Amino acid sequence: MIQLSFHGAAGTVTGSKYLISVNKRKILIDCGMFQGGRELRLRNWQQLPFDPSEVENVILTHCHIDHIGYLPKLVKEGFRGTVYCTPPTAEIGHISLLDAAHLQMEDAEYRNKKRLTRHEKALPLFTTDDAEEAMRFFEDASYMEWMALGKEIRFRLHDAGHILGAAGVELELNDGSKKISIFFSGDVGRYGNPLTNNPAEPPATDYLVCESTYGGRIHAPEDPEFEFEKMINEIIERKSILLIPAFAVGRTQQIVYLVNHLIRHKRIPTIDIHIDSPMAISTTDIYRKYISYHSIDPEELHSDESLLNSRNIYFHKEKKDSQQLNRLKGPAIIISASGMLSGGRILHHMLNRLHDPNVIVALVGFMAEGTPGRRLMDGEKEIYIHKTLARVNAKIISLHGLSGHADFFELLHWLEPLKTKPKKVFVTHGELTQSTAMAAHLKDERGWDCLIPSLDQTVEL
Ligand SMILES: [Zn+2]
Ligand SMILES: [Zn+2]
Repeated sequence: MIQLSFHGAAGTVTGSKYLISVNKRKILIDCGMFQGGRELRLRNWQQLPFDPSEVENVILTHCHIDHIGYLPKLVKEGFRGTVYCTPPTAEIGHISLLDAAHLQMEDAEYRNKKRLTRHEKALPLFTTDDAEEAMRFFEDASYMEWMALGKEIRFRLHDAGHILGAAGVELELNDGSKKISIFFSGDVGRYGNPLTNNPAEPPATDYLVCESTYGGRIHAPEDPEFEFEKMINEIIERKSILLIPAFAVGRTQQIVYLVNHLIRHKRIPTIDIHIDSPMAISTTDIYRKYISYHSIDPEELHSDESLLNSRNIYFHKEKKDSQQLNRLKGPAIIISASGMLSGGRILHHMLNRLHDPNVIVALVGFMAEGTPGRRLMDGEKEIYIHKTLARVNAKIISLHGLSGHADFFELLHWLEPLKTKPKKVFVTHGELTQSTAMAAHLKDERGWDCLIPSLDQTVEL
């Protein structure tokens, strides 16, 4: 018997966790943390509907917290198997997990100090020790190489674009009486981004699990270079701060690359970029090490003043350095996590600067429902941060040009080479409106049979 259960990213974007059972064997595709509204976040603290000690393997699509952030907890709850992913996913995942742990510990400490918790004591979901412990179970997998997990399961990874090392997962499952294939899209990236490859052609498959973050949207045809040029020139004129919520790895490099590109082409004067993160490190080494995973010119990566690592970039690891940024006078750019304002140091910057009409806040990533980031994006003029009401006088600009996610048009284009109709398509990783729209597009354009699973639903394949 072959079963698939959706324990995350079903009717919502975050918390990706797909459990596959082939007879008695169990594996997980992704092990993500829920982010967003309180109800979703509470799920991270509830007991899982399966026993983690029975899961033999985890295959990770990529290093974003909504795909790997539950791993330390899974290990704490008894998982002892192997975690497979590409080398960049493991390397960036390590940084991301430590960063997330640090931020949760800082947040818990702050909440306890300010008595902001309704619990006796605010606790982090996992600590840096838990994150380190989880890393012991990692093993590398490469794109396009089949790996067997016993005789029932084999898998291979396909480049998904999206972020360095991101993958879709193709599986062949055999329960002794039938053999089926299933392909998990992972998060599908976009075409023509120098920091990642284009998403690879999807393989023919019996079942498809397809993301739908922007299943009902088409990204505005805005040019991020032009938008950044405009914003930064405005900031320079106002001698103010451009504040960008973003995680330390991935999007941050995209922004640094873009800003330095504008400086190099004299479209803006040199401007300081402050990266405020406990794990703030130069990631040039990672891009240098994994040349085949992106299309940045290798010579570029070896120059001293590269687009990713130049003298105008400052890293702020310690909390006191972060606090000093409160007094920073512009013009400058501050990049700080979390990306959706659901925690982390960015909240202090927001409390400190949102009231200032000279400040510009650029929202460049996905903002889940129920997060303060989404409220800012929706134009709310008052938001609560750490139970303090903040007036929004700063200029809020939402940009989709840097999005790491294909819109529905790009998703349909990516699926174009699939000539045989899958038996069933499971539309996941989207808010319900987006998943519903994506399912409708797939039905209208391709005549495909789609299901939008609900959280914890199990289907037999
Ligand atoms: Zn992602
Ligand atoms: Zn995701």
